[in-house]
Amino acid sequence: MVTRTRMAPSPTGEFHIGGMRTLLYNYAFAKKIGGTFVLRIEDTDRERLVEGAVDRLIDVIKDYGLSWDEGPKVGGAFAPYVQSQRLSIYKEHALKLVETGHAYYCFCSKERLETLKEEEQKKGVASTRYDKKCANLSKEEVADNLSKNTPYVIRLKVNPGEIVSFTDTTLGPISFPTNDIDDQVLLKSDGFPTYHLAVVVDDHLMKITHVLRGVEWLPSTPKHILLYQAFGWDLPIYAHLPLLKEKGDTKKLSKRMGSVSAIEFLSEGYLPEALLNFLMFLGWNPGTEKEIYSLAEFIQDFSLDRIHKTDLVVFDRDKLLWINGHYIRALSTKELFLKLKAYALTFSYDLNSSGDEAKDLAILSLTQERLKTLKEYNQLTDFFYHEVNVDKESLVKQSGSVDKTKAILGLFLDMFEGIDESGWHKDLLDQQSHKLLEDNDLKPKEAFMTIRVAVSGTTTTPPLFDVLYVLGKNQILRRVKVAYEML
Ligand code: GLU
Repeated sequence: MVTRTRMAPSPTGEFHIGGMRTLLYNYAFAKKIGGTFVLRIEDTDRERLVEGAVDRLIDVIKDYGLSWDEGPKVGGAFAPYVQSQRLSIYKEHALKLVETGHAYYCFCSKERLETLKEEEQKKGVASTRYDKKCANLSKEEVADNLSKNTPYVIRLKVNPGEIVSFTDTTLGPISFPTNDIDDQVLLKSDGFPTYHLAVVVDDHLMKITHVLRGVEWLPSTPKHILLYQAFGWDLPIYAHLPLLKEKGDTKKLSKRMGSVSAIEFLSEGYLPEALLNFLMFLGWNPGTEKEIYSLAEFIQDFSLDRIHKTDLVVFDRDKLLWINGHYIRALSTKELFLKLKAYALTFSYDLNSSGDEAKDLAILSLTQERLKTLKEYNQLTDFFYHEVNVDKESLVKQSGSVDKTKAILGLFLDMFEGIDESGWHKDLLDQQSHKLLEDNDLKPKEAFMTIRVAVSGTTTTPPLFDVLYVLGKNQILRRVKVAYEML
């Protein structure tokens, strides 16, 4: 049997980074065994639908470098892959269950259900349930209601006093008493299926063999199993995956701590390869020290038995930053340059640029080592592109006194002026600067930091002589003069 996995997102907002992790696992598992990965859009909850969300979902999955074998845009043998285009299939299946006695029409009004809920809540019932009033309507009563066009839903008939059991590949054997399961609505009065009906019907019809999904869906699984049993279908293999949480927190990811949607991470300047590498480890590990994984390596090593048997895994934002820095350093400067340009275009980022590509590349190559996200680029390189604001206090602090600072700046000014523009190169600058220090008995730290602050306005820059060289003689003379005159 061909392995078939699926990701079934609901277009209710931006695609969550946790969804991307789940998608990645489904994708890798299918690829590993030469199977098929299906993307299905679960858009049956019309109230929570967000305009344009499907397109953005599709785009962001591609932006992360992932794809699907069957689904929207690409089609496949089980099309359509968008649930709102499959309504008649769900209705037909719901009616089949009514026929076989596994489901029933419910004509209860909204008001009645509300009152029921309130009464239960008053009694302190935590999860309120339908009282099965319509479960035993006679054929005549049903026909009568239908002929009067009374609005209805179709509910699953759950037999009390039974146990639903299954073995989750990750979590092991799991049982739920049916007494805890509501007579779930399967088909709503607007003709749309609920998630429970649609997911089971589609997973079956689309021949899905493995369902890897977040553990938040575990409470739904017994309802799904009852449906599989009612239809007389075989169950897929279930593997519930841990959810993501902030470091030190007990719950899920929080917007307060940073990005949570897949697209936000891209707009923060993370590289897709780094993000995927980071996501691989959120719920799985190879059991070795290896931390850097390409997608191809992950596909090769991924296995269900190494999925963490826990509810929550830590989403370590510092780790992500570290991995991103690693991927940035691993690029050639030219590749990084192209990625920065593409990033700037996509996210309307006003990338620092001199108009001279060779100069921009030189600046980038000096910065690459320290760059952790694409978004940081401007901040790290601003002093190359714009006038600097030198803080007098910070300037003076480097040597300890105004007089000494002035002396250092004056000496360097003379020395810089004496270098011919054609000879302005980092080796010569290095050599002459050291000679200057020796001749005037200056300590490298105080002298070089003074010059660094004067030309860049900051104390952290790439190597000083590279900075002097790339900024060029005129710019350096001007900046050192401005600093000198400020004192
Ligand atoms: N539509 C559900 C979601 O939004 C799918 C859950 C599942 O994988 O069964 O995630």
